[in-house]
Amino acid sequence: MGRNLEPKCKQCRRVGEKLMLKGDRCNSPKCAMVKRSYIPGFHGPKSRGMIRRSDFGTQLNEKQKARKQYGLSEKQFRITFDKASKKVGQTGESLLQLLEQRLDNVIYRVGLASSRNQARQMVAHRIFSLNGRRVSIPSIKVKEGDVIKVAKKGASDKLFKDIEEKIKNIEIPGWISFNAKELEAKIVSEPKAAQIKSNINTQMIVEFYSK
Ligand code: SF4
Repeated sequence: MGRNLEPKCKQCRRVGEKLMLKGDRCNSPKCAMVKRSYIPGFHGPKSRGMIRRSDFGTQLNEKQKARKQYGLSEKQFRITFDKASKKVGQTGESLLQLLEQRLDNVIYRVGLASSRNQARQMVAHRIFSLNGRRVSIPSIKVKEGDVIKVAKKGASDKLFKDIEEKIKNIEIPGWISFNAKELEAKIVSEPKAAQIKSNINTQMIVEFYSK
């Protein structure tokens, strides 16, 4: 997969919303969306608070927002959308469900990583096991009953030593249960729309792809 090399904070400024790509920094006053909340570039400061977009531009922006937030390439995002459109029910809801069910997202949601980027790297380094088997593919779709555990010896000491403290500030979604002592997450059910905390307007993404 081609890597997205655009600086992370610029990606947030371009779509005009916090995408939470940099872990703890995103919740600090150092966040670029706090200091420079206008689009990047020479004319950026003039656009402060008055970005005007056409309908198409708004739909495109919403798609980019979702794609960048979950760290997918254009192709991966399109494939996920196509899968969602084949599912029974509302395509927008199915899209969010599929994005949430990615292994890297689950690891981020329970606080084992401070961002989805970090979660992706950790999975690639084979730190986690899924149902007892070491895995290295961040896009694996988790399902009800799956158990994700920290598998790498030594990783639990260095990376997760303050985990119980960290997760006090995290709202773990109801479809995942997390045992911080065992560093173990279990998928309790499929994510329901009401359980997904999201700032994405999926209807606009559906409209974008139906053109
Ligand atoms: Fe986005 Fe995080 Fe950078 Fe803020 S600190 S602009 S939320 S990546």
